Amino acid sequence: MARVLVIEDEPDILEILSYNLRQAGFEVEAATEGEEGLRQAEKTPPDLVVLDLMLPGMDGLELCRLLKQHETLRRVPVLMLTAKAEEVDRIVGLELGADDYVAKPFSPRELVLRIKAILRRGAGRPEEPGAEDRIQIGSLAIDPGAHEVAVAGRPVELTATEFRLLHTLVQRRGRVQSRDELLEVVWGYQFSGYGRTVDTHIRRLREKLGEACDWVETVRGVGYRFRREAG
Ligand code: CA
Repeated sequence: MARVLVIEDEPDILEILSYNLRQAGFEVEAATEGEEGLRQAEKTPPDLVVLDLMLPGMDGLELCRLLKQHETLRRVPVLMLTAKAEEVDRIVGLELGADDYVAKPFSPRELVLRIKAILRRGAGRPEEPGAEDRIQIGSLAIDPGAHEVAVAGRPVELTATEFRLLHTLVQRRGRVQSRDELLEVVWGYQFSGYGRTVDTHIRRLREKLGEACDWVETVRGVGYRFRREAG
């Protein structure tokens, strides 16, 4: 049974979330403050963290950053809960390495689907280093087993989602991938309507790739493609 740690200070939301997650078969732990959540996660690492953005004391963004730099917890997926008006913060949340976000007010059913999608794509990932061959394209080097990327010999720090996005595009090199296809393969969504999530991640990925960014091509009105030849 997968364990989900919910960090949320609003009692009503915490209760609805806990109830729905238990109904869906998850083991649920709860914390109402960031520091408390971090301590609980360190004591018993969860399979996933649902993290509210606005918390008393240490807020969700700060905690997300700590988790993603944490020695033992950095690979634990984080789903951020945001209030509707916090458009900028949402994106910042993703840039800090959150694996997904859901805007409040949310449907508990959708939230459960998102959590399942995140856990599913995590479970299907080869963990052993060297399980797949290293890929070298121009100055871009990708090590799928170790989840490492370098450009011109310099390591590039990608979030788990950015890595999967890049790896998926490279595996389908030369073929255009629609936003919906990428959502399904990279995020595990079986429904559309989150194309902006793809765009945000592509933008971040390109920024991080620096001189190698031209390999990831926008195909207007369709989606994205990893070039076959240098652009
Ligand atoms: Ca809150």
